[in-house]
Amino acid sequence: MPKLIFEKNVPGSNSFSLPPGQIPNPAISKTIPAQFLRQEALNLPEISEVEAVRHFTELSTRAYGVDNGFYPLGSCTMKYNPKINEWAARLPGFAGIHPYQPEDTVQGALQLYYEMQEMLAEITGMDGFSLQPAAGAHGELAGVMIIKAYHQQRQDAKRTKIMVPDSAHGTNPASANVVGFEVIEVKSNQRGLVDLEDLRSKMTDEVAGLMLTNPNTLGLFEEDIQEIATIVHEAGGLLYYDGANLNGIMGVARPGDMGFDVIHVNLHKTFGTPHGGGGPGSGPVGVKAQLLDFLPKPITVKQGEEYRFNYDLPLSIGKVKNFYGNFGVIVKAYAYIKALGAEGLKEAGQHAVLNANYLRHQLRDDYHIPLDRLCKHEFIINSKKQAENGVTTLSIAKRLIDYGNHPPTIYFPLIVSEAMMIEPTETESKERLDEFVQTMRTIAREAAENPELVSQAPHKAVIKRVDEVTAARKPVVKWEAGVKI
Ligand SMILES: *Cc1c(COP(=O)(O)O)cnc(C)c1O
Repeated sequence: MPKLIFEKNVPGSNSFSLPPGQIPNPAISKTIPAQFLRQEALNLPEISEVEAVRHFTELSTRAYGVDNGFYPLGSCTMKYNPKINEWAARLPGFAGIHPYQPEDTVQGALQLYYEMQEMLAEITGMDGFSLQPAAGAHGELAGVMIIKAYHQQRQDAKRTKIMVPDSAHGTNPASANVVGFEVIEVKSNQRGLVDLEDLRSKMTDEVAGLMLTNPNTLGLFEEDIQEIATIVHEAGGLLYYDGANLNGIMGVARPGDMGFDVIHVNLHKTFGTPHGGGGPGSGPVGVKAQLLDFLPKPITVKQGEEYRFNYDLPLSIGKVKNFYGNFGVIVKAYAYIKALGAEGLKEAGQHAVLNANYLRHQLRDDYHIPLDRLCKHEFIINSKKQAENGVTTLSIAKRLIDYGNHPPTIYFPLIVSEAMMIEPTETESKERLDEFVQTMRTIAREAAENPELVSQAPHKAVIKRVDEVTAARKPVVKWEAGVKI
């Protein structure tokens, strides 16, 4: 374990070179009530300025991001983030404005919002968007609230259930649950797609809607989507599109044309804004015309040459976030879409699919691929072949760390045992993909010849295997003298 900064404490060392403060202490004690004045010195480490800088610089090199290397984290679309997007988000006219400023002083920002709503509608085939939700899961929440509000407005209160396929991301049932729906699971068939018979048999007039990811979490396109839409709509339900996998069809097919009524888009996945470790994200929610009135408010509108926020939406589910969404993320995604243009977005989607299929083809001799056919932007392998030697998917993922890769997503989706979900994205070169293939082949060979080596991995990482259950249940997030971590 690296030393914590508290453990580098050298009493008496000085970590700043500023002149002493000009405001005498009595002045402070006049403005701060006596009971709030600190009586003892803070228990902070004493460390010289250069050692403090070294400490944090060293820590920064321990973080792994897409700028360090290959990051094939399935479902997360960890593509390269063009640096010009950061430049755009930092422009003083964007970075320096305040959410309470009058609308006529932030016309540029509002224009960007308006155009973003329009572009997302065009890309996805929907009729309108609200940019408020702060992440995919938040967009789901807003979307499911819209579904609920729609049925309630039609006096159709018996619809208390939401259907979710067994391959779905955990946030789907969670979102439905938070909104108060009962979740009904729909089975996948042998081909990894929604089982139409199961769907039909569970569809009743109590179902408010079906949440679907397409391409689904197995990386497969739901070929029966039109049939699925008909089944749901004929029963009076709505179809929700989880847009996390939009990268696989971007510019080629649109959820709005497939029959989806409500969708969210993960700007921080498909449209290349850096994310990880929980944020920041952006999950705009989009709808078809009959649901426009329910969108979270405000929506940005254009009146003549002026842009303004429209709060006058009586049926709106309300505000789902303070102010106007994660503005910086929206600026980056806007710059990304504008830079690529329609053709560029299409090419990005197509190359994402090409890269995934290339890897799938290259890995199939050494790894079991449960659904080995044309995939979209990601695919699943598992450790069935390596299991003979007691090597698990977890171990393969840990061994990848030794070779300088970020491991793919593991143990998701739940319906494939020992799943490893690989999403290379379009921004990786053939050379990088070939390197990854070589590494995966080396690990397969190690698993056969020296399984212990793989099962004990990682050998080179600072932190080896952690007790994940205890780490999640009893996190130690605060340093305390004498407490061993
Ligand atoms: C990432 C993801 C989500 C949730 O999105 P967040 O932005 O992480 O909240 C939902 N569904 C799928 C399929 C995902 O991959």
